[in-house]
Amino acid sequence: MSENTETIFSKIIRREIPAEIVYEDDLALAFKDINPQAPVHILIIPKEPIAQLADAESQNQDLLGHLLLTAKHVAQQAGLNNGYRVVINTGPDGGQTVSHLHLHVLGGRQMTWPPG
Ligand code: 5GP
Repeated sequence: MSENTETIFSKIIRREIPAEIVYEDDLALAFKDINPQAPVHILIIPKEPIAQLADAESQNQDLLGHLLLTAKHVAQQAGLNNGYRVVINTGPDGGQTVSHLHLHVLGGRQMTWPPG
């Protein structure tokens, strides 16, 4: 795991900066993306700050499963009954801009493939 995992998302977890939080439990926090790319765009982050998927280890297996099930939960909660997309950008080539592992849940419009 990366040692420097303090990001803007850590501040959201600590409520030092505001966010529209839509779900929270002991392990995860979900909030609306500040720059939405779809009518529904929710970010899900682990409270334990893993910098990126590439840093995840076998000990994080349960947490990673929990984040995916949280994606399903927040998508249902948002009424995305016709489908949605879950994205994890990882590292520079993956387009990751915040070094705190996060899942994007995107929905409310038709997604296209391939992504940009
Ligand atoms: P990445 O590009 O790393 O996969 O995604 C980072 C996401 O975090 C972007 O979609 C960006 O809009 C979002 N983001 C960055 N800063 C903030 C913030 O302060 N608040 C919220 N709610 N989202 C943010």
